Amino acid sequence: MTEKVMKSETEWKAELTPTQYAVLRQAATERPFTGEYVHTKTPGVYACAACGQPLFSSDTKFDSGSGWPSFWDVVDKGSVELRHDYTHGMDRVEAVCSRCGSHLGHVFDDGPRPTGLRYCMNSLALKFEKQ
Ligand code: FE
Repeated sequence: MTEKVMKSETEWKAELTPTQYAVLRQAATERPFTGEYVHTKTPGVYACAACGQPLFSSDTKFDSGSGWPSFWDVVDKGSVELRHDYTHGMDRVEAVCSRCGSHLGHVFDDGPRPTGLRYCMNSLALKFEKQ
């Protein structure tokens, strides 16, 4: 099991940009079609922008048309934790980095086969590493 990353909000604030902090630590959502990785197709791995844990592979990235980078699976079982999110009057499933607890985005069940899942991520929560 990977060791957890525990940092105070003061530490996160010092390390992240203000927009990264808003998404990763305050669960903000970047505006659709504004993120760096919406249309990225380069082979590589998307890691958590806060702690660097690998989260998604370009192999499972697909064009959902939503305006956010979308994946139909995680790179490793256990890298992403799911939680119920009842904010904003909706019942959604929140995706959180299992290593540092940072907010990544939400998961919906309208994705393509084989999983049928759509991991709808914020570009700001990810750091792309080219293969
Ligand atoms: Fe993380």
